[in-house]
Amino acid sequence: MIKKLYASRIDGMKESIFSTMSKLNNEYKAINLGQGFPDFDGAKWIFDAACEAMKSGKNQYAPAAGIYSLRAAIAKVYEQYYDLHVNPADEITITAGATEALYSTINALIEPGDEVILFEPVYDSHLADILVAGGTPKFVTLHAPDFSFDAKELEETVTNRTKMILLNNPHNPTGKVYSRDELGIIADCAKRNNLLVLSDEVYEFLTFDSTPHIPIASLPGMKERTITISSTGKTFGLTGWKIGYAVASPELTHAIMSIHQWTTFAVNTPGQHAMSYAFGKLEEYLPDFKALYEQKRDLMLAELAKTKFKAFKPLGSYFMMVEIPDIHGHEAQECAIDLVKRCKVTTVPPEMFYGKSNEGKRLLRLCFAKQDQTIIDGIGNMGKY
Ligand code: PMP
Ligand code: GLN
Repeated sequence: MIKKLYASRIDGMKESIFSTMSKLNNEYKAINLGQGFPDFDGAKWIFDAACEAMKSGKNQYAPAAGIYSLRAAIAKVYEQYYDLHVNPADEITITAGATEALYSTINALIEPGDEVILFEPVYDSHLADILVAGGTPKFVTLHAPDFSFDAKELEETVTNRTKMILLNNPHNPTGKVYSRDELGIIADCAKRNNLLVLSDEVYEFLTFDSTPHIPIASLPGMKERTITISSTGKTFGLTGWKIGYAVASPELTHAIMSIHQWTTFAVNTPGQHAMSYAFGKLEEYLPDFKALYEQKRDLMLAELAKTKFKAFKPLGSYFMMVEIPDIHGHEAQECAIDLVKRCKVTTVPPEMFYGKSNEGKRLLRLCFAKQDQTIIDGIGNMGKY
């Protein structure tokens, strides 16, 4: 008889809210503005490159770090867009989505007793990874309406056990894009206290109204202490392909590789060849990609203006937060359930993304990576609440 079936590291671990809400969505045949994925196809012009790779026999294991041409293509993107010099030989790891990059990085660098500072609302897997690694999360709140943080609160959260600041920029779920000043405050704090910075930048190419995306690694003195993570799933709208990457110094990359090689070992080979081709066309592709999502954001804002839900305009990502109307004293969780069951529209209540403040109780997250008609119909259904 097995005394204790489960390892205690999974105690308290629940199904992700994104999966829960999508299941409810399907059960109630609602319109899904919850889980973050496009309900339209991604960059179709990449498909031929994947087929070509398969047909030409690129079907066996790739090197654990990823095929060299993809790493070289990513290094070129960092040089071109951010003036950051990254060595493809020993500073890039190709992973099974950003999710695996986050898992491998956190498990390689965090151990029991280490504290990690997160900005809440957090992205759910950040918190889960820290808990699996035995680390202790500490929260700094991003406050509505602009989701800014208090520099003093950040400084006061640092202790002699703090090892890392975990940042998500552009930010899921609020759509915040950190300004150079804000990044400067975080960078100063990291340098002064000798901390690592893990920066999840999967929405790096989705910023609006000419807002620049600034990788924190590009600030003076930050490259060597920063691990930057991104995902081709977001950049090319192919979330199901699960190809992500981590960019870090040779020493940190070596540590990440130690976990990566026992987690997935290597990522699907034809997909990597296709992505190395895709990055070569990034410059041509980006203007239409950004314009498409900016138009979808504006459409969602215009439709929301006809309802009782107050939107907080996002400058990046494909998410926005809305404040729920004060009806029946409902909080966001009840409101979200009511919206699926009665109004046939699915959202994400972000309460569990907060570890400290109560602000999530009045907010819902919406995803606008959806066809225009899905947005119009979904927000129309919210109007019935
Ligand atoms: N980080 C953030 C902030 C995300 O929003 C997501 C996906 N929604 C991921 C990481 C995971 O990316 P991937 O699908 O490449 O694993
Ligand atoms: N990260 C996506 C979101 O924010 C969903 C990915 C997932 O379901 N794990 O909705």
